Amino acid sequence: MSTTQVVHTIAELRSQVAAARARGLKIGLVPTMGALHPGHVSLVAASARACGFTVVTVFVNPTQFGPKEDFAKYPRTLEADVAQVAAAGADLVFAPSVDEVYPAGNATFVEIGGVAEPLEGECRPGHFRGVATIVLKLFNIVGADVAYFGQKDYQQTLVVRQMVRDFNVPITVEVCPTVREPDGLAMSSRNVYLSPAERKQALALSRALRKTEQAVTAGERSVWKLRDVLQTELAATPEVRVQYAVVADAATLREPAELDRPCVALVATHVGTTRLIDNCLLRP
Ligand code: AMP
Repeated sequence: MSTTQVVHTIAELRSQVAAARARGLKIGLVPTMGALHPGHVSLVAASARACGFTVVTVFVNPTQFGPKEDFAKYPRTLEADVAQVAAAGADLVFAPSVDEVYPAGNATFVEIGGVAEPLEGECRPGHFRGVATIVLKLFNIVGADVAYFGQKDYQQTLVVRQMVRDFNVPITVEVCPTVREPDGLAMSSRNVYLSPAERKQALALSRALRKTEQAVTAGERSVWKLRDVLQTELAATPEVRVQYAVVADAATLREPAELDRPCVALVATHVGTTRLIDNCLLRP
């Protein structure tokens, strides 16, 4: 399936999408930063199932990285990325340069309140401003009908939904389940940074989430106690440095007293110098 085209400019992208539209095709969009793995591929496959024309964007967005974060060393593997998404049914890969997306003089950013403020918002100041800005730009550049995001970045999905509502963006947002390694580790482009020892330590995240899920299944409804299960399990691996480990309302990210509504357990940690996040939904 080598029919996947790669374009680098907005003009080329728009002309390809316009041609697909003229053929009556529904347009699906999968925004990524590249270094693709089966988690990303699952989003492409979901789009290809539902849409006649799937656009995958590969762009390491500088505005969502903090000054001390890994923008410069973020893995860039475009050729392998194209091969993977081609096999999953992508029609077009958009891989623009930073100058194409942010030409000199760019001065507008999207600032989101509410769900963007806690957790990642506190740990990574400016991160969601960069994410919301690039996502809105990609929505406007591509003009897709449906956009696909992963549950792996749970708070990001809430931020994108908030923006779509608040700015009346004519797009449907679909969220796909987190794809994991066989041993439970959530797939992430950043997993390549982990040494073999850190790779083992990183299993504490999915293990702690699984234990929390099991406590819910066993009947625990106190959010305080569930948070304790999560934090205690993480603490058993001291090499995993926890930034936050919480149980929150799945819609607002506020912490309720009881699991009397859909909730989500969210963790953010450092393992060595690598930042890893994971989450799982908890239903009463
Ligand atoms: P990224 O390239 O990390 O910005 O991710 C691009 C998209 O892929 C985002 O919507 C992520 O949530 C999603 N994604 C990343 N990892 C996974 C995973 N393990 N399973 C499902 N989706 C994922």
